[in-house]
Amino acid sequence: MSFILHGAPVSRGIAIGRACLIAPATLEVNRYRISSSQIEAEIARFHAAQDQVRRELEALRAELPADAPAEMNAFLNVHALLLHDATLTEAILTLIRARRYNAEWALAEQLEKFGHYFDDIENEYLRERKADFQQVVEQLLKALAKTPASIAAYTHSGHSPVDSKIVIAHDISPADMLQFRTRATQTFCGFITERGGSTSHTAIVARSLGIPAVLGAPLASVLIRQDDLIIVDGNEGVVMVQPSPRVLEEYVYQRRRYLRRQISLSGLLSAPACTADGIQVNLYANIELPEDARAALEAGACGIGLFRTEFLWMRPHGQAPEEEAQFEAYRHVVETMNGRPVTIRTFDAGADKMPDGYAHSSTEYAPNPALGLRAIRWSLAEPRILLAQLRAILRAARFGPVRILIPMLTHAQQIGQTFELIQAARRQCMEAGLNIEPDLQIGAMIEVPASALMAPFFAKHFDFLSMGTNDLIQYTLAIDRCDKAVAHLYDPLHPAVLRLIAETLRSGHQAGIPVSVCGEMAGDPAFTRVLLGLGLTEFSMPASQLLIIKQHIRQLKQCALKSAVRGLLAAHEPKARQAALQRLSQV
Ligand code: PEP
Ligand code: MG
Repeated sequence: MSFILHGAPVSRGIAIGRACLIAPATLEVNRYRISSSQIEAEIARFHAAQDQVRRELEALRAELPADAPAEMNAFLNVHALLLHDATLTEAILTLIRARRYNAEWALAEQLEKFGHYFDDIENEYLRERKADFQQVVEQLLKALAKTPASIAAYTHSGHSPVDSKIVIAHDISPADMLQFRTRATQTFCGFITERGGSTSHTAIVARSLGIPAVLGAPLASVLIRQDDLIIVDGNEGVVMVQPSPRVLEEYVYQRRRYLRRQISLSGLLSAPACTADGIQVNLYANIELPEDARAALEAGACGIGLFRTEFLWMRPHGQAPEEEAQFEAYRHVVETMNGRPVTIRTFDAGADKMPDGYAHSSTEYAPNPALGLRAIRWSLAEPRILLAQLRAILRAARFGPVRILIPMLTHAQQIGQTFELIQAARRQCMEAGLNIEPDLQIGAMIEVPASALMAPFFAKHFDFLSMGTNDLIQYTLAIDRCDKAVAHLYDPLHPAVLRLIAETLRSGHQAGIPVSVCGEMAGDPAFTRVLLGLGLTEFSMPASQLLIIKQHIRQLKQCALKSAVRGLLAAHEPKARQAALQRLSQV
């Protein structure tokens, strides 16, 4: 059956490949025997997992659009039937009671056994229900584990992925995305998930990989089968499953055209990033790992505008990197950038980037983690970790120009505490006889409306400001950037957002300090006009976006854009805003 799914286009390009479903059944299932006193609890655990999967299926059914094909409903019906199939349930309970298997082991055993039964069925329709059965078991395992599937385990398992695989998953955490990058980049050519919005950190990592991705595609991991032929259109957010030969031919053509365009962009590598009316713009790169610096340099970045150092924690070991390892990582970036400035952001741990095993006691109950102990709040609650990071940065700064960037500041006392810790780190290095660069520029991220509204105050205390528009939009509009249910309300052009950006830029310019944007807006050509028109001349983005943004900048005149953006800022009524946006798009 051929069908189409829609989601958020989070990483551009077109990928054509075979579906590779990432699900917990591909994990090594933990097998152990329970004691007889644990049998009832283990059975209760299994029933609780069944209940959870039932609720998930109901939620999926509720999400089905009214015009969804009848087959989608049929899938859900089959899954619901299998979930409560009496034979399966009885077999599992027998294994738990008689053999004292843990629930996961019992499920894995049944998966294997029933799998063979399906293979022997003559009726083709019934034989094909094996995939449904596998998916139900996988959902049960996932519910038992209460954790998302680990891609690490997948890439280590015997399922060796072959070329041109497209990853299909319910969700992929930023840490799992990183593991794709570090271990298996060449083997996957596209990503599709059911969860996540276009500025979730999973999307950010997908973009930095330069691999087409569509996130928030409903039911993708339920409807798509292992090995289905898939087209991922990362430009439009469309996923085509089992496309017809004509559609396939059209996309093969489009993919070729897209690649040709990418190749022609490389002609801009040595061209200056200057607007058509002669305004010099600085294009920096965002990186997540030290090895990304090479791609930044090769894409012509004039420096690193944002090093998301918290990703150092998301490597497979999941440990806080020791000071020495951090020093080496920062030094590697500084040396790779060869004299170009490197902006190292202190850990932005928390929300969707909380490293395993480092939950601070007050993060244990965090119903709204994005509003919780995140970024500098978390670092100030873990001063030993922040001090070690600061010492590593000060030491790496001896090898080239480094700036420190502090995420998510909101309160004046946080500024004072952070500066004291920087001072303490300097002292500790000197006492230990370590060579450091004592005079670094220190910048603040403006990513909360409170700090944007207080931008003149921040501009007085810092050497530079960097606007994190991903969070600024999230917090201004009260839209969780990872929640696809409200993704349609995540609007970078909302008048409130534009006013906060404009005010921050004005405050920075008045104070005579540089102001950049390092959120995803900076790397999205759809917003280049508005940002230039607001007076921005410092952009920081994934390296993969640098050339396309440069191409746009070179075709635009900032002077004309400024006047069009003034019109946009003054337009409040929807109709007037529409007209102002139309004018802006024609400058
Ligand atoms: C931002 O919020 O825009 C930003 C750059 O930081 P992050 O995406 O890492 O939260
Ligand atoms: Mg942020």
